[in-house]
Amino acid sequence: SKADKKGDFLFYSNCISKQIKRKMNIQNELLHAIEKDQLSLHYQPQMRAIDKKLVGVEALIRWKHPTLGDIFPDEFVSIAEETGGIHELGLFVFRRACEDICALSSNEEDAINLSVNISPVQLLEPDFGPIILDICHDVGIDPKRITLELTENIFIHRLDVVKPLLSKLRELGFALSLDDFGTGYSSLSYINSLPLTEIKIDRSFINKFLEIYQSDMLVRMIIEIGRLCGLLVVAEGVETKEQFQKLLSYGCNRVQGYYFARPLTIETLSETIAIFQSE
Ligand code: C2E
Ligand code: CA
Ligand code: CA
Ligand code: CA
Repeated sequence: SKADKKGDFLFYSNCISKQIKRKMNIQNELLHAIEKDQLSLHYQPQMRAIDKKLVGVEALIRWKHPTLGDIFPDEFVSIAEETGGIHELGLFVFRRACEDICALSSNEEDAINLSVNISPVQLLEPDFGPIILDICHDVGIDPKRITLELTENIFIHRLDVVKPLLSKLRELGFALSLDDFGTGYSSLSYINSLPLTEIKIDRSFINKFLEIYQSDMLVRMIIEIGRLCGLLVVAEGVETKEQFQKLLSYGCNRVQGYYFARPLTIETLSETIAIFQSE
């Protein structure tokens, strides 16, 4: 009936306006999140598959808001990209992560690698490379210890625009990882012609490759492509021993996921590393 339809309409428009309100709220609150000290970083260990040695960490941003509660990056990073706030946010993450990791491991031999997620919007910022290199010098961390994780979203831009940007970052010393590999625009010709050092198999394949043959085939193919191209292959979202053992048998180089460790505060990470090293 007409009355029902009107009810539906009100219901939906109510939902939509709630979503819009939340989004606007997040946009506004994000402007002050850094100065109000609401943002923090967690670090998720990455293990070398052959001996399960902790060889690196990925920095993941967290936002604790006094009234909105915990807001996850899947929600606010895209909002920051739309408003341009991602530039400041990204540099905050980069500097904080460099400082934390630099303070953590001083010894050259067991210096761990730091992976930082970089938005395609940041990558296109003029002088992005020199700016983050400056931060490295400032903090005293070797850019060779840092991997920039890029998503396949960078390929919405033309290859002839993206390629020189990536080459420049490699020249400065940064390693380059293609995150969420297999989910987006990537093609063989891309990964072959870009100066990448690593590919990360997306979690959506890892969480079902033991059950679903197509995913298993894809995981094996990605590992083989990585090997042939001389790239490190990292599997993310590894949650079980069975998944780990299979990945190891396929020749995957590095693993990351709840089976080994959740994203940790810097304090907990530091304790974890101390335990590993005393073993
Ligand atoms: P991502 O880069 O693909 O990061 C991996 C996500 O998987 C993280 O979610 C991590 O907490 C989660 N994860 C790790 N291991 C497991 C596992 O074993 N099982 C399951 N179910 N999940 C696991 P998180 O921290 O919520 O981050 C979501 C996304 O937000 C990231 O996806 C990344 O794209 C983005 N992001 C996070 N921090 C930053 C940042 O500082 N800058 C930018 N530009 N993006 C960020
Ligand atoms: Ca990532
Ligand atoms: Ca990923
Ligand atoms: Ca992801």
